[in-house]
Amino acid sequence: MHIVDWFKSLFVIAKDNPQLMRVQLRALSRHIPLMYFVLITNTVALSITHASSAPLALTVLFPGGLITLSVIRLIGWWRSRDIEITPEMAYRRLRGSLAFGAVLGIAFTACALSLYSYGDDAARAHVAFYISITVIACIFCLTTLRPAALILVLVVVGPSAVFFATTGNLVFIAMALNLLLVSAALTIVLFHNFEHLTRSVVSQQQLVASNAEMAALSAENVRLANLDSLTGLPNRRRFFAELDNAIAEHRSTGACVTVGIVDLDGFKPVNDLYGHAVGDKVLVEVGRRLAKLASPSSVLARLGGDEFVYILHGERSEEDILACGRLICDALSAPYVVADLVVQLSATVGFATAAALGAGTESLLECADYALYDAKHSAPGTAQLFSSALQTRLRHNSLVEQGLRHPDLPDQLSLNYQPIFDAQAGRPIGFEALARWTSPTLGQVPPDVFIRAAERTGLITQITETLLARALAEAKSWPSELRLSFNLSMQDIASPQAVGRIIDLVRDSGLPPTRIDFEITETAVMRDFEQSCAALAQLRALGARIALDDFGSGYSSLSYVHRLPLDKIKIDRGFIAELEARDTSRNILRSMLDLCRNLKLECVVEGAETAGQVAILTQLGCRYLQGYFISRPLPVAGIPDFLSLHATPLRSAG
Ligand code: C2E
Ligand code: MG
Ligand code: MG
Repeated sequence: MHIVDWFKSLFVIAKDNPQLMRVQLRALSRHIPLMYFVLITNTVALSITHASSAPLALTVLFPGGLITLSVIRLIGWWRSRDIEITPEMAYRRLRGSLAFGAVLGIAFTACALSLYSYGDDAARAHVAFYISITVIACIFCLTTLRPAALILVLVVVGPSAVFFATTGNLVFIAMALNLLLVSAALTIVLFHNFEHLTRSVVSQQQLVASNAEMAALSAENVRLANLDSLTGLPNRRRFFAELDNAIAEHRSTGACVTVGIVDLDGFKPVNDLYGHAVGDKVLVEVGRRLAKLASPSSVLARLGGDEFVYILHGERSEEDILACGRLICDALSAPYVVADLVVQLSATVGFATAAALGAGTESLLECADYALYDAKHSAPGTAQLFSSALQTRLRHNSLVEQGLRHPDLPDQLSLNYQPIFDAQAGRPIGFEALARWTSPTLGQVPPDVFIRAAERTGLITQITETLLARALAEAKSWPSELRLSFNLSMQDIASPQAVGRIIDLVRDSGLPPTRIDFEITETAVMRDFEQSCAALAQLRALGARIALDDFGSGYSSLSYVHRLPLDKIKIDRGFIAELEARDTSRNILRSMLDLCRNLKLECVVEGAETAGQVAILTQLGCRYLQGYFISRPLPVAGIPDFLSLHATPLRSAG
């Protein structure tokens, strides 16, 4: 850098560094009042020592004016010490200080030097002392504003040193030299200090910037850690934190909180059939639709998989909650268009309110989950609120679950057999084995209840093995044209190993596999479509036949049904109940029978209870029937009587 440019740069205020200007102003606003105080007292002292020898203008008027100006500046700086100002204003103040410093420096020096010729030696020495000590004090006070301190060196020290050096008096020449040397040393210290100040401001700025960056980064990390990356909704972690807060608030203020769990029906097959990319897009759309329904005060999160949850704040009636559930079910059952595919899903919702339960996070969620579970079985595609009736059932279920763990369970279990009837031939074609449980503590527990409890607890596979072995043994005593239908649960076909155990039991029993029908509900099959297909194919390869049970009762799609390795369809009894009363029931049944014919599947209609129903069914061309009208499920000992009644001779096994 050229020396002139370097010299100029010494007097530049760092306009581009607002932080430095702020630090300078803060320091100056504390030091400058001190500087003026020193200047004023020193000047007053100088005026006093020259009051008798010098003219009034030099001892009172001129210094008086300067002192007045100084007092005004002192007050101005003192008042502004804690005021935040813009960088623009700071720049202007600092520049103003330079100009003012130069003018005042010159004026005070001129005033002091003009007194030199009036006093005696001591008074002259006072002038030299006044200038030296005052300028050093001022430079000290201005160290944070290097240009101002340098200006003082130039306008006070320089001229004063020249003045004293030219007096011809050795003492003053020596003093001039001292002043120059001290000022030079001070200037060097000034440079170092200023450099240090600039550097510390810069490093502080960097620190602040990196702190801000760190804070932004950690805020982003917190945000990401609480978000579900697929849907952008709050995730499981955030949901539990929010739920904990809501429960804590409920406990302390009584504020109401409701939790709703939304579970998609039929999402798994979408993933299995079309792949995860399509599945992901469907989930994103589900999240979008749910978010649209969420009120600003509610929290919507994705727990994982196809499970979404709501936290609803505020008091709500049962009707309100169920209406909200209906909106959710309706919104999610509208078709999903992904690429060139149209996907259809439905949703089931379980709600629970803390007010009704006095529950903690876990149990509130458990209760909502139970309401969901119950709705999924009793009325899929709808919303259910956890109620005291459900709570009673929950308690009863836990007793059932305990009872199922009893070591004597196999002895408490038995089988009833319900005939499946050929209406054309007027004789039974086989029997469906139906589980019965007489618990020593709970009495007769309906299969709907204990089979479900066994499925929940994972005890079902053990129960299936016990009952299947028994059914196979008992069926061996039937006439050889009679078939055995046996119900399987989802877990029974959930893995090749589980299916392997069923196959082993059949092989060990000695009953020809061709006489066996395995029944599986469509809901169970849809849980894991691909595995179900593989398992059913394994059973079919053995020679057994496969019946799709309770067809039409749950979530089903014809596109899946025709891909399953099936031999039979059992139409759910729900379609029969209103057969006599409603034409629509008749039409639906007719189209179901047509469907079976088209798919070349045998069809059994379940739940025929009256002569009227049977008449309509035969008229519709339905050949195989099952129901109370023909026979209720019979204990094994009742089979011979039933068979003799229907003129089928009972032959013994072998
Ligand atoms: P499911 O396989 O559909 O069995 C038919 C159910 O309908 C039986 O109920 C039967 O008693 C009942 N039913 C038959 N005809 C009529 C009728 O005319 N009117 C009415 N209202 N009901 C009729 P159950 O024995 O209570 O069994 C209920 C369900 O429990 C079965 O439905 C089946 O899904 C399951 N289940 C029964 N035994 C077993 C088993 O050993 N293993 C498995 N996994 N599930 C079983
Ligand atoms: Mg069945
Ligand atoms: Mg059935």
